[in-house]
Formats: sequence, C-alpha cells, structure tokens
Amino acid sequence: MSKDPVCGMNVDENNSQYRSEHNGKQYSFCSEQCKTKFDQHPEQYSRSAA
Ligand SMILES: [Zn+2]
Repeated sequence: MSKDPVCGMNVDENNSQYRSEHNGKQYSFCSEQCKTKFDQHPEQYSRSAA
C-alpha cells in the first residue's frame, strides 16, 4: 500500500493504473484526476509525502 499524495487515500500500488514518477520516486493515485493534479504540481505534493 502506498498513499495517494494528492488526496491522502491509500492506494494499492500493484493495482493502480495511475502512476507517476518524480525525482526518482514512484507515486500511485486513486484516480486520473489525482494523477493529473500531481503532474501539474509535483513539487507541491511530493514535499508533504516525503
Ligand atoms: Zn486521490
């Protein structure tokens, strides 16, 4: 399990079809909406998730 950095939901990273990478770190998302938000401002979300 990993955490969706955008909405804070727990996401099964093996099942998630919405993934993104930032600074060499993998992120999983619950929805395409969250992935899109992250992709627009990755530094904003990766900061709090680290
Ligand atoms: Zn989400």
